[in-house]
Amino acid sequence: MQRSGGGIIDSSDLSKERVRSEAAVVRREKALTHNQHLILLAVLGLASLLWLGARANTLGDASLWPFRAPSQIVMLWASSLAVLAIVVVVRANAVENLFGGLGEAVRWHRRLGLMSIVLLGVHVALLAADAAINGISVAFVLLPFSSPGQRSLDIVLFYLLIVLGVLAYDSRLRHEKWLKLHRLIGILYIAGILHASIEPGSIRNFEPLRTWFVILLLAGAGAWLYNVLLFRRVGPLYRYVVNAVRPRGHNIIDLVLTPKDRRMMFFPGAFVLVRVPSFEGMEGELHPFSIASSPVERDLQISIQQVGDFTKRLSYLSLGVDHPEYWQHRRAGNRHGVSTLTRQDVDVYGPFGGFSLLEFTGYRRLVWIAFGIGVTPFLSMLKFEQHNTDFRRIWFYYLVRKPDEAVYAEEINELCEVSDSYIDLIVWPSGERGRLTAAQIADDVGFDDYAVMLCGTRPSVENLSHQFKELGLPSTRIISEELQFRHQIRRS
Ligand SMILES: Cc1cc2nc3c(=O)[nH]c(=O)nc-3n(C[C@H](O)[C@H](O)[C@H](O)COP(=O)(O)OP(=O)(O)OC[C@H]3O[C@@H](n4cnc5c(N)ncnc54)[C@H](O)[C@@H]3O)c2cc1C
Repeated sequence: MQRSGGGIIDSSDLSKERVRSEAAVVRREKALTHNQHLILLAVLGLASLLWLGARANTLGDASLWPFRAPSQIVMLWASSLAVLAIVVVVRANAVENLFGGLGEAVRWHRRLGLMSIVLLGVHVALLAADAAINGISVAFVLLPFSSPGQRSLDIVLFYLLIVLGVLAYDSRLRHEKWLKLHRLIGILYIAGILHASIEPGSIRNFEPLRTWFVILLLAGAGAWLYNVLLFRRVGPLYRYVVNAVRPRGHNIIDLVLTPKDRRMMFFPGAFVLVRVPSFEGMEGELHPFSIASSPVERDLQISIQQVGDFTKRLSYLSLGVDHPEYWQHRRAGNRHGVSTLTRQDVDVYGPFGGFSLLEFTGYRRLVWIAFGIGVTPFLSMLKFEQHNTDFRRIWFYYLVRKPDEAVYAEEINELCEVSDSYIDLIVWPSGERGRLTAAQIADDVGFDDYAVMLCGTRPSVENLSHQFKELGLPSTRIISEELQFRHQIRRS
């Protein structure tokens, strides 16, 4: 027997509920993976069928084989996947639901983008091979403006895409610069598709294939325009005003925001995109942060590690002495601490994501793993715990380098004490205790019917998730949030 929010419940009920939940999670995971594979197959299959239709009368033509025909199909696949990559990150709820959250959609975007660029490379390699077997110089395909009759524009476009594709992995670029360059990839693909549709050839001559290209063009251009130009105006915007900026030590601050008109409703674990219109030169930047407050509170809290330009500038939103220019903003001649600083507006877009405790309704035993500032979504979940009757047994690992970096440990302990669920907080200073392993956690838990939630930087999250899978934990029982969208090469 175990305690629940509303009284005592039988452990056999728990196990039945867990089995039901496991089946539901597996079904949902399967449905999501199924959706993704279905979309991929449909897009690639349709592109291939349309090519077959366009070439039906010339399939026996020797000039198409062995390289030219595959090179054309591969180009159709590359264009279709590129558009799909643009569409999946469109930050619209319907698309998010199809992929299980924006984070998962971003992962898909990375895979599709890579596949598309690789296929583009294959397309050009096949064209070069085709030129070679027909006794044409390979330079005709690879070197723009080297001979008459060449498609030099296409060649230049190809090289630009390759360069931008490589830059997508360059971790030295500041995020905003990287984003601007990355968005060029979308424009180039769309320009390439437009160019291919109006050039003489099978696309222009075969109506169904041309229609497919028009659809690709509209979907790609629409998604790109929405994300880049329209989102800030017509996206899910909530206007907040700064209430307080609380320094927590170790370059971490809490930004507490009060709604100006309507309040955002969200599930604990969600993240938002934040913009500060008064930040000159950065007024257009949207930064993702997990919400650290409970949905039942009026004020919205986000807790932030100040790592770069934008996050450091957030201290300028404080009205207190921790504002870097507080002393200049005191009234001239006065000796008291009244400052002329005014509250600034903050635009909050969202909520987004799929990192939710609600995904594991039937699991009574949970392991939470927070890497540093990855603690924020768990703060929201813990605060929400105080207001719900969904009893759980939770092992909460808060990983930091040194003990004093666990700036939320005291608050978490207080929340755990008043929580209806049984929660053990284990602060793990890796500088003193070494790396925490999945095997150690499994030993602590002592049962095999638990689910795991992890939040932190990608390498840490991936590493521990991998260890849990190696221990035999099904991937449906692991849910993670990575605090970076951009792919960065790991440095060991
Ligand atoms: C889903 C999600 C939830 C997050 N939740 C939190 C949180 O609760 N608390 C917290 O402190 N941090 C969180 N982050 C990380 C946070 O978004 C970045 O640290 C922040 O944007 C850094 O901006 P900067 O200009 O100060 O730093 P920079 O020096 O420009 O960048 C530092 C790092 O942040 C990334 N980054 C910068 N700008 C953006 C952007 N606009 N969008 C995405 N990534 C960016 C860069 O790729 C780089 O890895 C979250 C990230 C994601 C993806």
